[in-house]
Amino acid sequence: MFDYEKYLRLDKFPHIWCAGCGDGIILKSLLRAIDGLGWSKDEICMVSGIGCSSRVTGYVDFQTIHSLHGRAIPFATGVKLQRPDLRVVVITGDGDAAAIGGNHLIHAARRNLDLTVIMINNSIYGMTGGQVSPATPLGQLATTAPYGQLDPAFDIPKLVIAAGATYVARGTSFHARRLEKLIRDALLNPGFSLVEVTVACPTIYGKLNKMGTPADMLLWQKENSVDVAKAAKMSPEELEGKIVTGVLHHERRPEYAARYQELIRRLGGEVRHPAAVSEEVGEETAAVA
Ligand code: SF4
Ligand code: MG
Repeated sequence: MFDYEKYLRLDKFPHIWCAGCGDGIILKSLLRAIDGLGWSKDEICMVSGIGCSSRVTGYVDFQTIHSLHGRAIPFATGVKLQRPDLRVVVITGDGDAAAIGGNHLIHAARRNLDLTVIMINNSIYGMTGGQVSPATPLGQLATTAPYGQLDPAFDIPKLVIAAGATYVARGTSFHARRLEKLIRDALLNPGFSLVEVTVACPTIYGKLNKMGTPADMLLWQKENSVDVAKAAKMSPEELEGKIVTGVLHHERRPEYAARYQELIRRLGGEVRHPAAVSEEVGEETAAVA
């Protein structure tokens, strides 16, 4: 039997997640993926923002940072640039990653910085009271959308693929074994990786939208998931409301932290302060005037 306790800070338990929440299933897939790679606990730095899923960093026995709402990626960026030897994993939610932290997300993807972002999508702001998030589907109910969400939801994997991410996948908390494999491949990708995981939030999203018990919500994930290969043969109408799962994008291109280290080596300590550059530009401008 898998030794989950090896990776957990049991003194921080009981956890805060509601009964029936899928966050624990995802955490277990993540821990099995890490264990399968044989990495030491000290070489992993896990960074989170704020929200239900972001509480993961309190419970795991790695190097951890529980940062500010929407700011997990900037904290993780600082860690990766300063310590490129660390394996940096970001745990975030749909609101945390794509609303408050949306700009950080697209720019980290654009740089192809070697971060593995596990974005746990419960389609709502769970912890802060059930407000709409950028991933709340059209027409669904939230406390701030009592007549149904008017905005179309972001397809967050498509957003980061367009921005430049080099590994992008989607899984669900129902398909826990498959998720483990998707996370493993994301951890091995030397560049910006994002795995979106559809999760059941029975207490807030499920209750507001009358989706039944936690088990009903898991079965809903099973019945509405379509593998990416099968989805390629389906029409947009047939795909309406479906969760397309699997590896959505994978490419290789130069990674940012390595390029940053290369720049430092090339400069050999001859670093020019931005103020000196501005001063030079100022002098040139004055000469032209
Ligand atoms: Fe999970 Fe929803 Fe409860 Fe948050 S509010 S812990 S997402 S069930
Ligand atoms: Mg959320």
